[in-house]
Amino acid sequence: MMIDTHCHLEDYENIETIIKNMEGNKMITSGVNDETNKEVVKLINQYPNVYGVIGIHPSEVSISNEKSILWIEEQLNNKKIVGIGEIGLDYHYGIEEKELQKQFFKKQLELARKYHLPVVIHSRDAIEDTYQILKEFKDLKIILHCYSGSVEMAQKFLKLNIYFGIGGVVTFKNSKTLKEVVKMLPLDHILLETDSPYLTPEPFRGQKNEPKNILLVAQTIAKIKEISVEQVLKTTTINAEQQFDFNKTL
Ligand SMILES: [Zn+2]
Repeated sequence: MMIDTHCHLEDYENIETIIKNMEGNKMITSGVNDETNKEVVKLINQYPNVYGVIGIHPSEVSISNEKSILWIEEQLNNKKIVGIGEIGLDYHYGIEEKELQKQFFKKQLELARKYHLPVVIHSRDAIEDTYQILKEFKDLKIILHCYSGSVEMAQKFLKLNIYFGIGGVVTFKNSKTLKEVVKMLPLDHILLETDSPYLTPEPFRGQKNEPKNILLVAQTIAKIKEISVEQVLKTTTINAEQQFDFNKTL
């Protein structure tokens, strides 16, 4: 079985085909704001092998408010909401919202703590601040989605027992650092993800990504770590089942 631990399924016209292509496998679709969080709830109620995480993404804080967080909290009794995400910090397009991003980030980490749920973290050009905040929440199950930092930083996160979502970027020819990170990371701290419809792996770059391409990510990781694809799939599936409770009881 394969588990795509991070994708955005609200964006497909041919959703039935996308789901069918993942028959026998699981997907975790992620919300980023009020609108997409609602889509996540719709999708998980409709498709048995789709699970969800909901949260306010750092780039969406200016269009979100207190009510957004309250709505998220109300949904946490849905058995198929398996975590809070994607949440975090993103300073890529400027840092005017730095403080507001931190507020939303911490509030949602507190929510995850209260409900014993894992968190899926987005961090872009903000790795040091992300680390400083997560240090205070190391009792949580934390997944760094689409990790893009250095080997040294990855080692620091590992010490907090944080898991790493590895996706299509690892297949890119110019992803030298990420390949080094993957080589260093113990397989038992790696989760597979696609971030579909974004970050399509080689050799399909330029096309719209979809969860079934998770296999290409697994193949690349196998090559880097000089192990079999079966071992990558088996171990990363166990990891995903340890981080996310797919048989959530309330
Ligand atoms: Zn994402």
